[in-house]
Amino acid sequence: MNIAHQYKLLPTSAQKIIMNRWLDMCRAEYNFLLAERFNWWERNRNDINSCPLICHLPELKDNPDYYSQKRGLVPLKQDKPWYKSVHSQVLQDCVNRVKLAFDRFVKGDSNGSRSGKPRFKAKNRYRSFTYTQINSGDINGNVIHLSKIGDCKLILHRPIPDGFKVKTAIISKKSDGWYITLSLEDKSVPEAITNVVPTEDNSVALDLGLEKFVALNTGEFVNIPQHFRRSEEDLSRLQQKVSIRQKGSRARKLLNRRIGKLHQKIARQRKQFHFETAGRVLDKADVVFVENLKVKNMSRRCKPKQDETGKFLPNGQSAKSGLNKSIADAGWASFVDILSFKAENAGQRVIKVDPYGTSQHCSNCLNKVPKTLSERWHSCPSCSLEVDRDTNSAILIKKLGLDVSLSIKRSRRNPREACAVV
Ligand SMILES: [Zn+2]
Repeated sequence: MNIAHQYKLLPTSAQKIIMNRWLDMCRAEYNFLLAERFNWWERNRNDINSCPLICHLPELKDNPDYYSQKRGLVPLKQDKPWYKSVHSQVLQDCVNRVKLAFDRFVKGDSNGSRSGKPRFKAKNRYRSFTYTQINSGDINGNVIHLSKIGDCKLILHRPIPDGFKVKTAIISKKSDGWYITLSLEDKSVPEAITNVVPTEDNSVALDLGLEKFVALNTGEFVNIPQHFRRSEEDLSRLQQKVSIRQKGSRARKLLNRRIGKLHQKIARQRKQFHFETAGRVLDKADVVFVENLKVKNMSRRCKPKQDETGKFLPNGQSAKSGLNKSIADAGWASFVDILSFKAENAGQRVIKVDPYGTSQHCSNCLNKVPKTLSERWHSCPSCSLEVDRDTNSAILIKKLGLDVSLSIKRSRRNPREACAVV
């Protein structure tokens, strides 16, 4: 079983200088290696249909890969001796990061979904480095020995569980200081596999929304705290101040630090809310049905509208961007991840259900009851069911989850309707 624990580091000023310098050097190396890959890519690719059958081919250069780039670290240390001060594993991990970023761009992950083009990292976008091998013996009480940095204090707010070995350590720089993430492994503990069979009694379904964060099929709600919205004013005030300060000035730097801390606070509040809500939901039942939301598609921008002369017409984006902001603030995807993680650890199950049509149909008679996004009440003309709109969806999600053969009469998806299914 693999888990990760994060602790706060308390480095001395000298250690901070070393770590900052390492980040800088790793970033330069990362950018160099990425450029090497892009160069090969640009020079050696050719569309098959634009290549004549007989032509002179220049001698192909070797494609830089993980191994060749790793071998390149040796001459690097000769040419630039200051790289010798960085721990070898940290530099090797830098090569690995380039490989992962490039592979995800070219080949995609195990599901075949490709990421965007890797970006060159600006100074504050490269914020962590990794020791790929750390021994449990390196941690003594609240001090960890980091090779080439020295003994560094950490706040061991929770102990490392018995039987777990420390495998790797990622040291990251955040707005409020340095952190260390230890990945821990215990081979004797098997990965949790749960096969609880969902029944009417042991399951609960939830509908995720923006007005009420969670609506359960039992009629209970969890309201949304809107952490970002509450701090939005503070944030914009600070951002206005930053914009009038001179670039590179100390005042601007201090203000940027405050903005970073505010963002961190919002993210932490949201995370805590997600954990607490997930705990409350999992207390109710062993199996939880959730919607399989495509958050990325839901928070897309509206398509631009143009008239015959090419003039841009209003397309509703200003209203949509307010909705998108609230969708991002809710953080549904990370909530579902946290819910699944907690359920797995407790031997419970989270099952995703296709939500399409669940807000537009009656949970009692399954007839279609069209609603716009602003109509928050479900009243069915056929069976006269009167219930909150979100509760109706949750009941329907539970029905769909329990009975795989049950299908609601879903009409052909048209983009306008798809937008209204929230
Ligand atoms: Zn009905």
